[in-house]
This record gives sequence, C-alpha cells and structure tokens, in this order.
Amino acid sequence: MDPASLAAAIGPATKLVWLEAPGSVTMEFPDLPALLRIARERSVLTALDNTWGAGVAFDAFDLAGGQGVDICMQALTKYPSGGGDVLMGSVTTRDEALHLKLKFTHMRMGWGVGANDAEALLRSLPSLPLRYAAHDATARTLAQWWATQPQVVQVLHPALPGSPGHAHWKAVCTQAAGLFSVVFDERFTAKQVDAFVDALRLFKLGYSWAGPVSLVVPYDLATMRERPAWKGTLVRFSIGLESADALITDFEQALAASGLA
Ligand SMILES: *Cc1c(COP(=O)(O)O)cnc(C)c1O
Repeated sequence: MDPASLAAAIGPATKLVWLEAPGSVTMEFPDLPALLRIARERSVLTALDNTWGAGVAFDAFDLAGGQGVDICMQALTKYPSGGGDVLMGSVTTRDEALHLKLKFTHMRMGWGVGANDAEALLRSLPSLPLRYAAHDATARTLAQWWATQPQVVQVLHPALPGSPGHAHWKAVCTQAAGLFSVVFDERFTAKQVDAFVDALRLFKLGYSWAGPVSLVVPYDLATMRERPAWKGTLVRFSIGLESADALITDFEQALAASGLA
C-alpha cells in the first residue's frame, strides 16, 4: 500500500517484485500502476498473483496508463474451476523469452496436471464471467448489509468507499470478486465471534474461495499484521452462488444465536 517503501526495498540483488491485489484477507487494494512503474524504472520483473481478479476484474497486462505486469499467476483452484474440487495453477506471460524460461523450468521440474482436473477446468471456463458477476453482485449486497450493522467497525471490500485502496480499485477494475471481510468491534471476544461463525448454517468453514458454497474463516488480525489498523476479530466471507436473501437470513439467525444481535 506504500509505493515508497517498495522503492526503498528494491536493491541490486532484486530480481522480481511479487504483487497481490487486493490482499486476500484484509482486502486492501494497492496502486498497481505506481508499483509497476517503480519496478520498471529499476528494470525489475513484476509478477502478480491474480487469483482475486481471475482475468475478469481487470486486465493485468494492460492496466491504466498502458502498463502491465510481466507475469500473471492464478490459482485456477478458485474462480476458473468454480467447483471447489480442483487444485491447479497457471502462469501466463506475453514475453517470449520469459515464456521459454518458464516452459523449460516447468519441463525440468517434471510438473504436470491430472487429465481429469484439466477436463474439469475446461468445462468450467466458459461460465467464468457469469459466475464471477454473480459472486460479485451477491458479495456487494452482503458487504453493504454489514456496513449498516452495529457489531462491525469496518467492512473490507475494495468496491466499497471507505475500504482501504478503494480509489485504486476504481482506477483499474470494473468488477470485484465475491470475497470480503468484516471487523467486529473489540467489545466482542474472539470466542463470541467464533460462536457466530459456528452458528452459520449456509457457510462452511474453509480457507479457499470461489466455489458454489459460501465459506467463512475468523482471523486474529494481531497475528497476521505487524501494525493492524483495527482491533477486534476479523471474519472473512467467500460468497458462493446462494441468494443474497438466504445468506442475510443466515447472518441474522447466527448473530441472534450467538448473542451478538
Ligand atoms: C488459494 C490461493 C492460492 C493458492 O492456490 P491453491 O490452488 O489453493 O494452492 C494462491 N494465491 C491466492 C491469492 C489464493 O487465494
């Protein structure tokens, strides 16, 4: 989130700047064109973990200002699969020399994917834009609902004004993934928030995302950030393909059941 700190961290030994947009738990969206400019000025390659954008929310090879990353990586496990039943990844580049380097590394390491996994992926790809749009619409509805709830001090969703990096998201993205987090007020203990998470019926506990079934994970911010911007327990939701109404009803019953309502 601080381009100056990236510039200061690049030294003569730096080969690659690895980026992710947004951060996949705290959802802050960086100023990608600014970060790319800094790397390019220093002749350092850039790679983006584009699992969130999935090649739908923005074009990583052609960002605002005509800049793009050198290498784009995706966990195909997430949106491209959409089924929550495949583990696979992709690395894409438009640079011929880089392509050959990656291709030979891939060959020499002896990596491969299962034919059945590849088949499942190919079956899912044509519906990716429709699924992504549906996850986006439902997640935004739910994020806006949480923004009106007194239990949370912050809703973290890059498409919501007031979320860190919202202006950076707006500058390059047309869509957003079905992923967001909320930070509960610190007057609620982690145990109380865990009780809320356990009381959800439609959400399963899980770290992954982009499948048809909504997932939820509570996080202790203090253990994952050196300088957390908020106190309190964070809960991340991956929104599936259920209706927004059904998921809001589930939030309401779980808040009541756990004594948070
Ligand atoms: C899940 C995820 C990965 C890893 O993908 P797997 O296929 O589950 O190993 C990498 N980057 C991001 C941002 C992810 O969400």
